[in-house]
Amino acid sequence: MDYLFQYVANLIAERDREVVSLEALDRIHHVAERSRQELEISNARFQVLLESTGEGVLGLDMEGIITFANPRACQLLEIDYQELIGSDVQRFMVPADAASESDKVVSIREQKVLTLLDLPAKATYDPGRWQTATGEPFIIEYSAEATINKSGERTGAVLLFLNITQQRENEERVEYLANFDELTGLANRTNFTGVLKSAIRRNVRGQRYIGILIIDTDHFTVINEKLGQKVGDEMLRMLAERLKNLVRPGDMVARLHGDQFAIMLVDMDHAENAAIVAEKINREASEPISLDDGAPVTTSVSIGIAVTGSDDRDSDELISAAISALEIAKAHGRNTYRFFQPEMQKKAEEKKRVQMMLRSAIDNGEFHMMYQPIISLRDQKIATAEALIRWHPADADPIRPDIFIPIAEESGQIGNIGDWVLGSVAAQIKAWQEKLGVYPSVAINVSSKQLRSHEFRERFQDLIRHHNLPMGGVELELTETGVMEDPTTTLDELVKLHDLGVSISIDDFGTGYSSLDYLRRLPLDILKIDQSFTFGIGESEHDEEIVRVMIRMAHAMGLKVICEGVETKEHLQFLKAHDCDYVQGYYFSKPLSVDDMTDLLTAEKDGTLNVMDLPETASEKAKVPVAPAHVSV
Ligand code: C2E
Ligand code: CA
Ligand code: CA
Repeated sequence: MDYLFQYVANLIAERDREVVSLEALDRIHHVAERSRQELEISNARFQVLLESTGEGVLGLDMEGIITFANPRACQLLEIDYQELIGSDVQRFMVPADAASESDKVVSIREQKVLTLLDLPAKATYDPGRWQTATGEPFIIEYSAEATINKSGERTGAVLLFLNITQQRENEERVEYLANFDELTGLANRTNFTGVLKSAIRRNVRGQRYIGILIIDTDHFTVINEKLGQKVGDEMLRMLAERLKNLVRPGDMVARLHGDQFAIMLVDMDHAENAAIVAEKINREASEPISLDDGAPVTTSVSIGIAVTGSDDRDSDELISAAISALEIAKAHGRNTYRFFQPEMQKKAEEKKRVQMMLRSAIDNGEFHMMYQPIISLRDQKIATAEALIRWHPADADPIRPDIFIPIAEESGQIGNIGDWVLGSVAAQIKAWQEKLGVYPSVAINVSSKQLRSHEFRERFQDLIRHHNLPMGGVELELTETGVMEDPTTTLDELVKLHDLGVSISIDDFGTGYSSLDYLRRLPLDILKIDQSFTFGIGESEHDEEIVRVMIRMAHAMGLKVICEGVETKEHLQFLKAHDCDYVQGYYFSKPLSVDDMTDLLTAEKDGTLNVMDLPETASEKAKVPVAPAHVSV
């Protein structure tokens, strides 16, 4: 339209000089009419644009008074057009009191509007936070442009804005969930390890100590099961509150998972300071917790502590050190704390070394089996041979099974080892059958971890079929504690195996805490009384009483009883007197090599040996030293 102004200006200038001709007036009229039509069209376009955009549009004058608005702006600000026009834009801005840190980014843009309009800076506004006419707060995202007239003077501004409250909330929630635990509002594991990493990095000179406390609620599963998950959750929230109140600013409290919390103590001058905090936690955590409804609940916590020292442990190592210490605290009767000790570190390394060595043990042929006779007191004969594994690593001293079996269980290597044992024993039974014409019954130790994988049963069945062995010739020994780790799956597998005709014994009986009620449901044939009770015979009346009761109880349940660890004549006589069915122990024989066991079976079969005479021969052999165990993990 510039040309129109120019044209009219020229004409007016002309008019000053001369009278305007009719023709000229006509021309003016014509041009003006065309311009008016163009203006209408462009206004209409502008109107459509304003109405259809998703953004609110506000026109402001230099005082910040709203001069025009599109329908979307009215909608977003919850106000009628009539009322909006002429209002002060400041009416919708929220003063800064409630400003939060994260919104500061927007403040630069806010200032841009203020400077654009040159508003009297009597108030600073919470950047990005506006309110509707009805006082509903919302988060705004906007851009502003100055409007400038022909002579280059500012006349005001046009503001394009959006309500991004929902979007912002979603983003904040995603961010929150990635770093915080919803139940307690504490930092989560990711957040905790992240902060710990940078704390360790900052502490390069190691002049100050960083302490990690892993806190585990004692018997939380019991509380959860007895009182319900709601109470459990409520309790975790209260514990979280107590922990938060115990630490200094700068320290961090997190919930790692379930009922496990972690605390990071930064900037300590002495490592022992961690113990002071731990003591406070033990004290505070065992104060009764009063829940919304119901009686107060009392709990306690066990704490494992690891502190950065001269050795530069990384964050993962520090956490797992604290977890090892936690296990010790729990083993010491709970409601206590323990520091990670360097010996624990040594043990952990030893464990790793054994695991590495185990990897090649089968391929290198480092395992072999020994067999120990189990004697029937009624028949006065060898009833069974217990198969016991031996490991002699190629380039190290022998390692005892009670050391490497638990390590193999933990690392998952027990599956392969167990398979090797099965194969070796099955082949041995077959060999004895071919040589002696009888199948001696053999007891095999099965780790409960191994039993719980279904492959065990299949592999077992295959082997028995492959060697054409009678199922009844094999006994499986499972420890009481192993069975109790996962009673449901174990029961399931045991029932299936028992249905195949295999005998099942419960080993080391008396060392676990299995309920008799549960034992009754297991398809058991034999109960093996742990050797620690046998050793008590002649030493402790209490132990003797336990042995008597266990034998009676087993018989009442229709089970046979083996007593292991029979080392003396006194042991044997007591057991005979109390109706024990079978005995096993050094008094008769140590575990024997295949050749020695074969000789023993042959002699018995030929009638040249009565096992009850074995003690004399055994005491001769006992003078020969057995391979010592050099590794103590
Ligand atoms: P266990 O099943 O309780 O085996 C009995 C242990 O007591 C054997 O130790 C045996 O040598 C020992 N023993 C037998 N009679 C006497 C005695 O009169 N006095 C004393 N002091 N000890 C006696 P071993 O062979 O060192 O086995 C230790 C443990 O390792 C076994 O305890 C068993 O739990 C496990 N184990 C052994 N072989 C295997 C195996 O092939 N597979 C699995 N999963 N575990 C095995
Ligand atoms: Ca056993
Ligand atoms: Ca045992």
